[in-house]
Amino acid sequence: MLEESHFYFHKAADVLGLQDNVRTILLTPRRSVKVGIAIEGEDGKLHSYEGYRVQHNMARGPMKGGLRYHPAMDEDHAAALANLMTWKTAVVGVPYGGAKGGINCDPSILSEADLHEITVRFVEQMKEVIGPTTDIPAPDVNTNAQVMGWIMHEYSKYEGFSPGVVTGKPLDLFGSEGREAATGRGVMDVLAESLRERERTFDDITVAVQGFGNVGSNAARLIADQGASIVAVADHTGGVCRNGGLDVPALVDWVAERGGVEGFPGGEPFDGGGIITWDADVLIPAALEDAIHEDNADDIKASIIVEGANGPTTPEAHQILVDRDVLVVPDILANAGGVTVSYFEWAQNIQQYLWDEQKVNAELDKRMSAAYQSVRAVATEHDIDLRTAAFVLAIRRVGRAALSRIHIETKLPF
Ligand code: NAD
Repeated sequence: MLEESHFYFHKAADVLGLQDNVRTILLTPRRSVKVGIAIEGEDGKLHSYEGYRVQHNMARGPMKGGLRYHPAMDEDHAAALANLMTWKTAVVGVPYGGAKGGINCDPSILSEADLHEITVRFVEQMKEVIGPTTDIPAPDVNTNAQVMGWIMHEYSKYEGFSPGVVTGKPLDLFGSEGREAATGRGVMDVLAESLRERERTFDDITVAVQGFGNVGSNAARLIADQGASIVAVADHTGGVCRNGGLDVPALVDWVAERGGVEGFPGGEPFDGGGIITWDADVLIPAALEDAIHEDNADDIKASIIVEGANGPTTPEAHQILVDRDVLVVPDILANAGGVTVSYFEWAQNIQQYLWDEQKVNAELDKRMSAAYQSVRAVATEHDIDLRTAAFVLAIRRVGRAALSRIHIETKLPF
C-alpha cells in the first residue's frame, strides 16, 4: 500500500518537476512510535500487543488520522495510511497533517473490558505524542465512538479536560452531529459534481455499491434520496439486486438486524464478487483495498467510479480505467468527508460550541464541492486524471507550507 501511494506521489511530483530532496522531505515520516502493551485479560492470563502511531507530516497543522485495531496492523500499514492522510487533508483544505496508528489486537475475540484495558495502556504510553495541537486520532477499522470516549477520558486525566484530543466521539461526549454519515455524504457530494460536469442528474443514473458498512450504506441512502436507483449492493455475505432500485432504508434495517445483505427479501440474490463489473452507470467501491485490479478493470461497465474505500483500485487498474475514459474520483478526494467533519468536531470542541446538523452538512457539502472543483481545475491545467491532479494539488499545498517553515536554498518549481 505504501508503494501505491508513493507511486501516485512520484507521478504527481513528476508533473510538478519536484526536486528529489523535496520529495524526500515530503515522504519521510516525522515520527514513528511503537509501544508494547501488556494486560491481564479477563481469562486471568497475560496478553501482550504492539501499538503504533506513525506521524507523517504536520506542515499544515496537527496530524490527523484513524486508529485501527486489527491483528494485521503493523508499522508499514500505519506508515502507508499516515502518508495518505497528509495528502487527503491537504486536498480538502482542512488545517491538518497526516497520521495513522493502531494496535495489533483482534476485537472480535476480546471482551469489552479487555479492549478498554488495552486502550487505556495505549493512551498511557502515547500521551506525550498525541494531543489537540499535535496529533488527533479518530475511529478506523474496529474502533468506534466508544473507544474514542475512553481515549478522551484517559488523556484528560493527565492533561486536563481535552475533548479535542480525538474526534468521532459519542454525541453525548462532545462528538459532532453529522459525523456518522459524513464520509457517505462526501461521496454523494463529489458524485453530484461529476454528474454536473457530464450534464447528468441523479434521477437518470443507476448505481452499484460494494460494501454496506458506514461508508457504503450512508452513500447509498443519500444518493437514493437524490433520486438515483441503487440497483445492486454487495457485502461480505453476498449480493442483492433489483432492476427498479433497491429500497435502501429497508436494506439498512435488514443489515442492522442480520449483519449482512444476504437473504434480503426486497431483491434477487447474486454472487457478491460480480458487483465490480455490474451493469450500472456508477460504481462505488466502499469495502476493500484492491477490489478493482487489472483482471476486472477491462470489464467494468460503469462510466463513473467514486472510491469510498481507501485504495480500492490498483495502479495498473487505474491506468486501464483512465485509458478507457472512465472517470475515477480518487479516494483521497472522494472519502475525505469523514476527516472534514472530524475537523468540524475539533473546531467545535476548541470553541466549546455546538453546531446543528444542518450547519455541519451545509459546510461539508460546500467543502467537498470546492475540493472537487479545485482538483478538476488542476486536472484541466495539466491535462491529467483526477487522481494525479489530487496528488498535485496536495503536494503543492503541503510543499509550500513545509518549505515556508524552514530556511532552505531550494525553491519550489511551482
Ligand atoms: P465498515 O466496517 O463499516 O464496512 C465495511 C463493509 O465492507 C461491510 O459492509 C462489509 O461487509 C464489506 N466487506 C467486507 N469484506 C467484503 C468482501 N470481501 N466483499 C464485499 N464486501 C465486503 O467499514 P467502513 O467504515 O464503511 O469503511 C469502508 C472503507 O472505507 C475502508 O476502506 C475504510 O478505510 C474507508 N473509509 C472509511 C471512512 C469512514 O469514515 N468510515 C472514511 C474514509 C475511508
